[in-house]
Amino acid sequence: MSDNNVFIRIIKGELPCSKVYEDDQVLAFKDINPQAPTHIIIIPKKEYRDYNDFMTRAQPSEVLHLFQKTNEIIELLKLQGNFRIITNAGADSGQTVYHFHMHLISGAVLHNLV
Ligand code: AMP
Repeated sequence: MSDNNVFIRIIKGELPCSKVYEDDQVLAFKDINPQAPTHIIIIPKKEYRDYNDFMTRAQPSEVLHLFQKTNEIIELLKLQGNFRIITNAGADSGQTVYHFHMHLISGAVLHNLV
């Protein structure tokens, strides 16, 4: 995977981010172009291209950890009951950064997508 990938560069500390949470496996930071008052990007530090790659290659413990930390971030930010989680995979879905990530979005009335 490309060393120029923007999220890899954030993980390496080569680019700044507005950090919300970090541990040895997970990093969460504010989206640079927020689509709602709260818009957080949550990523595994290990390299996975998208959701399918993550679910195929990651250990079950990594998957559990990422989702548990996502839930902790929801609670930390007091978003319980009012949020949306999105992950884009592939160009047709709108994926622009090919490092698996989830968007955690809240704080506004969100338009229906499905
Ligand atoms: P996606 O289109 O699903 O691949 O989402 C990529 C997201 O990364 C977009 O919402 C961008 O605004 C966000 N983004 C790109 N560069 C940065 C950055 N340097 N810091 C924070 N978020 C970023």
